[in-house]
Amino acid sequence: MGEFDLIRRYFLPVAEKGHHPDLVLALGDDCAIQSVPPDQDLVFSIDTLVEGVHFPAHYYPDYTAWRALAAAASDLAAMGAAPVCFTLALSLPEADEAWLEGFGRGLAQAASRFGLALAGGDTTRGPLTISIQVHGTVAKGQGLTRSGARTNDLVAVSGTLGDAGAALDFLDVPEPGEDGCALLERYHHPQPRLELGQALRGFASACIDISDGLLADLGHILERSAVGATINPELLPLSVPLQHYAGDRAQDLALSSGDDYELCITISEALWERLPAAIKKQLTVIGYIDRGEGIRFTDGKVADSGAQGFDHFGSTS
Ligand code: ADP
Ligand code: MG
Repeated sequence: MGEFDLIRRYFLPVAEKGHHPDLVLALGDDCAIQSVPPDQDLVFSIDTLVEGVHFPAHYYPDYTAWRALAAAASDLAAMGAAPVCFTLALSLPEADEAWLEGFGRGLAQAASRFGLALAGGDTTRGPLTISIQVHGTVAKGQGLTRSGARTNDLVAVSGTLGDAGAALDFLDVPEPGEDGCALLERYHHPQPRLELGQALRGFASACIDISDGLLADLGHILERSAVGATINPELLPLSVPLQHYAGDRAQDLALSSGDDYELCITISEALWERLPAAIKKQLTVIGYIDRGEGIRFTDGKVADSGAQGFDHFGSTS
């Protein structure tokens, strides 16, 4: 099977299944063409997943595709952007048809779920690596950023935290049980908060998606906004399966483990009060922004900087 057969067989069908009115020309030409409505900004981001670094060696191909697109889509969610389309650069050690079939299936499912149309890509031979560039749009000047947090804003997170991190313990377990399966589902099929991100435009003062862990990602908001935060760990939203499985470790996982793809926002108290109930109930307030630097806990302890996420070029992790 040649490169072009491979593209025609496994990726053209994904492109043909998903359309977006802004995607004027998709896969098959030298470039794709996207039209951007005059009142919109184009929002884009690229994410790379390397086998053995971002997902385990010999991981399921359909989950690999889902996680890759979810991680990229989550960045659009964090900006409050509406999803439009994506390109896929795939480096493969070999043209393994069973793997490609699974990957194409997972990609089509995720693309349809997230409302992202496949616009094109690039296929090369090499160590298994998946790069996805996502494109979205947001009303001009309305994109959520990391830099708008102000003293006395509330800090809130969506959903529950720590589940995907706990799931790592179950990846090689033959019979993970009910809690293990629930946690694994969070790892295999992350659900980027695309609708929530868009609903938070005009409300959140800053926003980030939690890919590397709450401490690390909230830390990015604090740095970009030049403020500090106080967090009450007792308020962290923990799922029932996580509490069952991890017990005393649950809080640490919620603070430091990644891959949950929830949102962390800051918001003034006045705007929090005006948030529609349906949006509010997806969020939990865990602390507030204050002067100073970095994250403190309500008991006065300073958050451990060694627990602040994964740094590919860091010396300690
Ligand atoms: P070029 O040489 O002009 O860059 P390619 O031969 O790399 O074009 O790709 C041919 C067409 O197939 C292009 O439209 C490209 O976007 C698409 N394509 C290549 N690889 C992929 C892929 N992995 N997923 C989706 N589309 C792809
Ligand atoms: Mg090319």
